[in-house]
Amino acid sequence: MKFLKTIVAAAAVSLLALAPQAFAQDKGLVGIAMPTKSSLRWISDGDSLKAALEGMGYTVDLQYAEDDIPNQLAQIENMVTKDAQALIIASIDGTTLSAVLQQAADKGTKVIAYDRLIRDSANVDYYTTFDNFKVGVLQAESILKGLGYPEKQGPFNIELFGGSPDDNNAFFFYDGAMSVLQPLIDKGVLVVKSGQMGMEKVGTLRWDGAVAQARMDNLLSAHYSDGSRVDAVLAPYDGLSRGIISSLRGVGYGTADQPWPIISGQDAETPSIKAIIAGEQYSTVFKDTRELAKVTAKLVDAALSGGTPEINDEKTYNNGVKVVPSYLLVPVSVDKSNYQAIVVDSGYVKAEELK
Ligand code: BGC
Repeated sequence: MKFLKTIVAAAAVSLLALAPQAFAQDKGLVGIAMPTKSSLRWISDGDSLKAALEGMGYTVDLQYAEDDIPNQLAQIENMVTKDAQALIIASIDGTTLSAVLQQAADKGTKVIAYDRLIRDSANVDYYTTFDNFKVGVLQAESILKGLGYPEKQGPFNIELFGGSPDDNNAFFFYDGAMSVLQPLIDKGVLVVKSGQMGMEKVGTLRWDGAVAQARMDNLLSAHYSDGSRVDAVLAPYDGLSRGIISSLRGVGYGTADQPWPIISGQDAETPSIKAIIAGEQYSTVFKDTRELAKVTAKLVDAALSGGTPEINDEKTYNNGVKVVPSYLLVPVSVDKSNYQAIVVDSGYVKAEELK
């Protein structure tokens, strides 16, 4: 009898040990489509989203498309075929997904535009991002700080770069920056020597650093070979800033005689924090992708379990068909004076990676 009791008890214990795995609630599949691994931020976004959703009991299919539009489309089609409950999409071209999103909607799949708005489709349920207009404002304000304006009155030569014209964010960044810069261009404090302004002239397809570098090479040879100096460059993303820095280095900037212009950026990527410490890049904009992932995972979970997803903006992001209910996080300007407190102490970039 005692023997039997022992066996029963042992069986109960081993069942209990199995329980978490055997009976873990499987809440279904969530597909995550990220644009590229060529920028550190998207790797961080993907990792944080996957961890958060798996922690909530979802199965995750995380895909990167290496900035290839048909590739991303195929990945999303595959997620829909596999009956994903929700799709979290950081699109490459925010206008190319209408057909697959219709298929998703027909199956009742929830669609979340992640960081980049998906345009021209009614089948976008939510949008999670940062205050993108503010990002541009912060970039422009940091340029003025770096130039020493208003104590120094210029005139200062500035060149402008925009992000990828197929990314809705690029227009918000540019418009935000120009809301600060345009009045000073009008007053003659800032001079765009090339005359190249407006997204159709300054946009950088696929956010490609090599494209920005080539354009900066052209600007320098066409407009600055008379001995005049570039004092500032509006760059909307760290990968472009680094391309622009390479170009400037090629014609002798970065010395005591020819110091670096004031160059902005975005994403607090490790190589750019290093460039800020070295005095090559002046600033970046930190967007805590860990927070964006957390907010998005919570929103997905609420949407799938019949709760009320938390949103805080219902007016800003019209995708051409409807205003998409959004959750906006706050971006933070970072330069040499605060990178330690904002990006290192928060654990976003590890101190040893900056050596
Ligand atoms: C993101 C930026 C990023 C850029 C290039 C934009 O959509 O909002 O954080 O710098 O894409 O990857």
